[in-house]
Amino acid sequence: MAIYEDNEYEIDYESRIVSTDYSKAEDGNTEPGLRPKTLDDYIGQDKVKENLRIYIEAAKQRGEVLDHVLLYGPPGLGKTTLAGIIANELGVNIRVTSGPAIEKGGDLVALLTNLGENDILFIDEIHRLPKTIEEILYPAMEDYTVDLIIGKGPAARSIPLSLNKFTLVGATTRAGQIATPLRDRFGVVLKLDLYTPEELATSVKRSAEILNIPIDEYGAKEIASRSRGTPRIANRLLKRVRDFAEVKGKGTIDREIADYALSKLEIDKLGLDAVDRRMLEVIIKYYGGGPVGLETLAATVGEESVTIEDVYEPYLMQIGFLSRTPRGRSVTKLAYEHLGIPFVQSASEQVGIFTEE
Ligand code: ADP
Repeated sequence: MAIYEDNEYEIDYESRIVSTDYSKAEDGNTEPGLRPKTLDDYIGQDKVKENLRIYIEAAKQRGEVLDHVLLYGPPGLGKTTLAGIIANELGVNIRVTSGPAIEKGGDLVALLTNLGENDILFIDEIHRLPKTIEEILYPAMEDYTVDLIIGKGPAARSIPLSLNKFTLVGATTRAGQIATPLRDRFGVVLKLDLYTPEELATSVKRSAEILNIPIDEYGAKEIASRSRGTPRIANRLLKRVRDFAEVKGKGTIDREIADYALSKLEIDKLGLDAVDRRMLEVIIKYYGGGPVGLETLAATVGEESVTIEDVYEPYLMQIGFLSRTPRGRSVTKLAYEHLGIPFVQSASEQVGIFTEE
């Protein structure tokens, strides 16, 4: 199991330039400075920040532990960052792990018993915790106790062990997949939304300053509007565009070089890459624009259905290119226009059996 402190991630892979997967090289480890450390530095998500500020202040004033917090939203929106900020604002330590990294009950018990008073345990991808391990969390969250099992078989005894009071911060891309008993134990549930291009432009300028990359307003806007509402992607694109600016340009990121670099990277004006376009085209070409079921679509484009749901869809739906109906996914007229494909209304829409979710 990996127990790792702030800014160290064990998952290290990158498949797409606009991928939202964790990647040590891209954020975290090599450039830890990119992660905002305080609520004031954390861009956007105003409602979430406003609420958190009050909860943190109240807990501090009362000298009590902060209630457990569940953060949910697509990858790369700042859930891990926010967990670090909560710890920082409270002045406590944070332990970072993830659902799939906790393989045995003992792993979780070891983590829990090592927490200091009011510390934070951050579990990323909490929906992937095995059920049996999840059950260990229930008494831990509620009464700050765990049951230690001593011995095996009929002679096994369970001994309750009390823990320091702690805050569990859970993060998930899919709140719906969290079992109700677990979900109900979070006093604070906060949803992160995709960022607006303006917020992302602010984030790009902030990152450029930290990384010492000269950038002008237009360059920042160009990168922002092609980052799929996601700061992790914005940071990644910024670094790639920097390479082009240094080699092909004047060293400063302006609109021209940003546009040139992003076109070379096959990221279009709206931030869609080749995979997005292929997915939309597949639905149009093979399924008459939809509706097509998620599993069928996943098989046709050769992606996991969870990746489609977590990574591709939120943005395509936000920009109004894809609609999700009980019968599957449909491509909208806007997407046809963007792809330069003549729009033909699908048969099911024409007879009016097409219902929005
Ligand atoms: P998640 O845990 O939701 O997948 P992260 O917290 O790892 O996302 O954030 C990804 C990257 O995006 C971080 O390295 C951080 O630099 C940047 N980032 C995320 N949210 C913000 C924000 N609100 N303001 C500025 N930068 C952010």
